[in-house]
Amino acid sequence: MIILKNKMFSLCSLLLMSAIAITGCGSDKQSISQAGAAEVKTYKWKMVTSWPKNFPGLGTAPETFSKYVEKMSGGRLTVKVFGAGELVPGLEVFDTVSQGTVEMGHSGAYYWKGKIPAAQMFSTIPFGMTATEMNAWLHFGGGLELWEELYKPFGLIPMAGGNSGGQFAGWFKKEINSVDDLKGLKMRMPGLGGEVLKRAGGIPINLAGGEIFSSLQSGALDASEWVGPYNDLAFGFYQVADYYYSSIWHETGTTLEFMINEKAFNELPSDLQEIVRIAAKAVNQDMLDEYTARNSNALKVLVNEHNVKLKQFPDDVLLALKNHTNDVLADEAKKDKDFARVLKSYQDFLSKARDYNNLTLKEYLQNR
Ligand code: CA
Repeated sequence: MIILKNKMFSLCSLLLMSAIAITGCGSDKQSISQAGAAEVKTYKWKMVTSWPKNFPGLGTAPETFSKYVEKMSGGRLTVKVFGAGELVPGLEVFDTVSQGTVEMGHSGAYYWKGKIPAAQMFSTIPFGMTATEMNAWLHFGGGLELWEELYKPFGLIPMAGGNSGGQFAGWFKKEINSVDDLKGLKMRMPGLGGEVLKRAGGIPINLAGGEIFSSLQSGALDASEWVGPYNDLAFGFYQVADYYYSSIWHETGTTLEFMINEKAFNELPSDLQEIVRIAAKAVNQDMLDEYTARNSNALKVLVNEHNVKLKQFPDDVLLALKNHTNDVLADEAKKDKDFARVLKSYQDFLSKARDYNNLTLKEYLQNR
């Protein structure tokens, strides 16, 4: 009976929202009208992002979120999306949302390592979890709770906002045949991957995506990672580097993030809050599905139409990078107690997932 009443009530609310004159919905028309009037309050949010407007995958995800929210809320909540640099530079998303200048942001948690070193684990770390494992850890393994706890002092609520899947080692002008070939290598490689490269003798350089092509062309870079075939084809890197290494090691299932100003979120009625959460979850899955679908097609285009030389790192190079990764993570954990705490949760989860997937998925992938 309660369910029936709610259904009738929402039907009335919908009719009220459409400004249609109604009769006979419930016994007390006036109180329902008042409730209806309160419900049609609209919220107009802004979302700043770290990507060029509508950049494939990364930049289309926040646009999709905005469409989902507007449709699900019947227009009661709208979210206007801004590309990097339109309102604020791409790497000022965190501060802008934290200060409440805008209500929302879409970015990657590893960009905030200067404020919260542990945030890197909510995006990706070298030799870390796959996309599927990241989603499992965040949503059913305690990861999101840790993330919320670390963002709370900044007045922010984080949510997973997409996943690129495992990223390629990247584009190289020369072949990598041994660990020695990494020495002195000037490579665009942000975050912990960059620190690992440095310990292997390389020179990590942090550049925005839009600067990679010209830097490879000019020789300022010998190599660069970006994302994977779908995004890398769009940037045309095959024109300025011959070798494309598919080895996944430094970004193994990169989670993007939505961040929401806590005060703005608390001002929403509970149904709109739920719509925001569900839309974020939908976009989180959409992005992975899109990359999964488009990467394999893009790789075929790169190899068959642009004659890219597809390679993998030799085992000893991967082993050296893995050993350096373990050292880097141990050193970071010593410097910051939150890093140590999140790393423990991350590694406990990864350890179980690794055993399980080695037993099952690894065998299946080899046999199918
Ligand atoms: Ca990358």
